[in-house]
Amino acid sequence: MEQFNQLYDNGTSEALYSVDAQPAGLSQAEAHATVQKLSSSIDLHRLANIYFEQLKQKLHLDAMTIKFPMNSITIGDSSLSSNQKSMDLVNNHQTFATVYYTFRKSLNLRESTILNELHRYFKYPLNNAVEHYSLKQMALKDHLTSLGNRASFEEALHRQISACKRNSQTFGLLVIDMDKFKKVNDSYGHQEGDNVLMAMGDVLLHSIRDMDFAFRFGGDEFCCLLTDSDNRINSIIAKRIQQLMSKNTILNKHQISCSIGCTTYLEADTQKDLFNRADKALYLAKESGRSCFRAA
Ligand code: GH3
Ligand code: MG
Repeated sequence: MEQFNQLYDNGTSEALYSVDAQPAGLSQAEAHATVQKLSSSIDLHRLANIYFEQLKQKLHLDAMTIKFPMNSITIGDSSLSSNQKSMDLVNNHQTFATVYYTFRKSLNLRESTILNELHRYFKYPLNNAVEHYSLKQMALKDHLTSLGNRASFEEALHRQISACKRNSQTFGLLVIDMDKFKKVNDSYGHQEGDNVLMAMGDVLLHSIRDMDFAFRFGGDEFCCLLTDSDNRINSIIAKRIQQLMSKNTILNKHQISCSIGCTTYLEADTQKDLFNRADKALYLAKESGRSCFRAA
């Protein structure tokens, strides 16, 4: 028990926790079981679900939203309830997350005690999970454009293929390479080249739909995963990318266009098959004189 108390006191300015001092809250066994469950995952979404289940076992909770600087997670349905309580989670004098609890009816004293207790147990597991999530997000991001990087593309492609196998759907892949990009670096310097790459990132984000994803592989090579897409939608998006590029101030200033290879996922495709097909189509677009798209 002493070890257990230490885990949740940890030198913070919060009042020291003692199960004995809170007879109206959880029993020692319940508190211990909760702490163990909350220690079982560092994955943010999994931890949030475990916590939600713990809360629901003790309180009439309808929904919970966890907000932290990089994102937010909502579990449950808050639309039918009007009783909301928000509680910050503070570490080293800084709020690292806020949890919004939504209840069917307002809490009585005992329920409030239980909520405060559970919320306190959630603090350290959540702090670890948020840090883990942030590091993972950073490792999956291209720092220049803020698009996903190659590792993130591989993950997303794997997810898309699994989803399509389950739902008998298909999706599109566009592989994009900027035309004569090197001349921007050569004539105006690397910094201006970076500005062009960032502008390209913006164009891609404005060309795709909410459910699609854009990535930068490195250099002037990008790609888009188009959810629930086919050859027709692939072409529409490829055209839109080229139109928005021609309207973008910085890309227009340097007369930068791009070549695009498009393909659609087929049932027997491996990740490699799909990518190679799109890459061949990109090669055809370059061979055809650039500033165009080809499908394969
Ligand atoms: P092509 O039409 O055949 O694609 O010609 P290109 O000039 O675009 O040639 P290529 O795609 O091979 O050139 C990519 C260039 O991108 C080469 C490299 O110097 C430059 N590059 C790679 N990474 C970066 C970066 O992070 N910033 C900048 N500014 N340039 C980069
Ligand atoms: Mg290029």
